[in-house]
Amino acid sequence: MPLKEVLQKINFVKQCRRYQLSLWQCPSFLFLLMGLITILTMLGSYLIALRYTEQPEIVALIVILVAAILTIINYFIVQGFERLAQANQLKSEFVSIVSHQLRTPLTSIKWTLNLMMDEKAGQLTEEQLAKLKTIKESNQQMGDLINDLLNVSRIEQGRLVVRPEKLSLEALVRDIFKDYGSLAKSSNVKLSLVSHEDIPLISADRQAIKIVLQNLIDNAIRYIRKEGRVKIVLKKKNRSVICQAQDDGVGIPQKDQNKIFQKFFRSRNIMKYQTEGTGLGLFISQAIIKASGGKMGFQSREGQGSVFWFELPIKPKNNKQ
Ligand code: ADP
Repeated sequence: MPLKEVLQKINFVKQCRRYQLSLWQCPSFLFLLMGLITILTMLGSYLIALRYTEQPEIVALIVILVAAILTIINYFIVQGFERLAQANQLKSEFVSIVSHQLRTPLTSIKWTLNLMMDEKAGQLTEEQLAKLKTIKESNQQMGDLINDLLNVSRIEQGRLVVRPEKLSLEALVRDIFKDYGSLAKSSNVKLSLVSHEDIPLISADRQAIKIVLQNLIDNAIRYIRKEGRVKIVLKKKNRSVICQAQDDGVGIPQKDQNKIFQKFFRSRNIMKYQTEGTGLGLFISQAIIKASGGKMGFQSREGQGSVFWFELPIKPKNNKQ
């Protein structure tokens, strides 16, 4: 671990402030304090024991006293962890409630906009239509963000449910390509689908796998600068199907690669030019693939491109069909 990181870890005042905990509730401070007290008391007990070799009761009393002090500190440490766990749970519940509440007005804005744009199309000027389109896109962005937050709180609370059905990955990719046609065109990106053989139907949750594919295709397009290619490759491997999303975009710096599936993480090379993005897509995708009995990974080289892949069993392990 680099020295800077070690120093940051030792700087418990900063850590406690970040978690908004008082020193007596801050695990890192209590941990250090306990270490210090343990060393000092052991040393003290040894010295006292040397002095009172004739009176073992005094030594026993001191050892009991030390054990009592350490137990009290342990109690504070456990309380500190409990507070952090409670705060984490409250945060997930808060995000879930707020997201649900926000979804209703957003849906109503969406339907009203659709009505205005469809029914009154003849009565609206080009400029008014263009403005309504911008509002609709922003509304969609907010809706997507709220869906992401809802999925994150489901994952954190262990409530992510997948409902497997017969699914053709090939057909799903083609469907998604239709939605991404205009983004790909405006980004000068060519989309293609390659399947090396007959890809069998798999048993997976269509809606959930659609979210994964949308995230991978969306990222592959957006993290290409100027122009490039995005290729989706489908392969069969034993009892699984592998889906790869290959791009020749900006790639991911080696330093950032171990954090790429973390919640809210965005690599530094894309921050400057691609400001939109939450860092939630891959976190959600990986959770969906795991919940579907599969696995997910990637290979990437900065400046050369990336390949994100997932592997799903044709039949889930507990499915006896
Ligand atoms: P978002 O794209 O909203 O930032 P994601 O969770 O989908 O969030 O991706 C996390 C980060 O992983 C991105 O911010 C980007 O740094 C990196 N990333 C993901 N896919 C690619 C890709 N195909 N090429 C380069 N970087 C990528």
